[in-house]
Amino acid sequence: MLRNVFPIFILVILGACSKDSGTTTTNPVANATVPDVYKKIYGASSITSDGTYITIKSNGLPDHKSSYYATTNALYDNFVGTTFGGYNFVKNPNTIAEKAYVFKIPADPKVSSNHTATPLGAIGVSLNGVPFFNQYAGPNQPLTGEVVSFDRYWGHPAPTGQYHYHVEPLYLTTVKMTKSSLLGFLLDGFPVYGPEENGVLVDNTKLDAYHGHIAITADYPNGIYHYHVTSTDPYINGSGFYGSPGTVSQ
Ligand SMILES: [Zn+2]
Ligand SMILES: [Zn+2]
Repeated sequence: MLRNVFPIFILVILGACSKDSGTTTTNPVANATVPDVYKKIYGASSITSDGTYITIKSNGLPDHKSSYYATTNALYDNFVGTTFGGYNFVKNPNTIAEKAYVFKIPADPKVSSNHTATPLGAIGVSLNGVPFFNQYAGPNQPLTGEVVSFDRYWGHPAPTGQYHYHVEPLYLTTVKMTKSSLLGFLLDGFPVYGPEENGVLVDNTKLDAYHGHIAITADYPNGIYHYHVTSTDPYINGSGFYGSPGTVSQ
């Protein structure tokens, strides 16, 4: 009798095991293919997709010279001159620190009906892994007093050491790529482009309240909503996200 039960018992165990290994991959696209456009984020330490969200990890350190690196750093820049808006550069007291950003952005961005306001802190990620910040220096405080502290490439660190761009990331638009290039993504998954489109300057009058428009780009031949950086407020994004934002841990 027992000799007959034993093989059945084995079969039950095997069945349980195969079911078990099935539950570890309940999400059938746990390692979904990352679309090529996200691979342009060359500063990321990893880029993965679960099919719903693209997860981008970055240490947030600029890959270019900055006055805010420690003087012992090879990228330290003793910059003297004019910065954004033609102001003379005045260094702030902060120093760049390494971070551990995890950006989770929608893989299939869609317009949202409520256009969530952008938070202070990171609102997106640029191609070199440095975060984008919004148009405010603090809660509803304009950037006016802060722009003098933008370094040679128009970024600066917060008191937390978080290096960031509120305006055009000049290293990307003038050294690595062009003024018409893809520069990164906001947390809602929509891409951010430089101040020009096909070599023609885009000003605020060509953009909606969220600072974007729908057009064909080199990366999106079927057209997509995208933001443009401009030289005037709100610089990258205005009046909240066009789509529903993902998350960032910083
Ligand atoms: Zn800032
Ligand atoms: Zn455009």
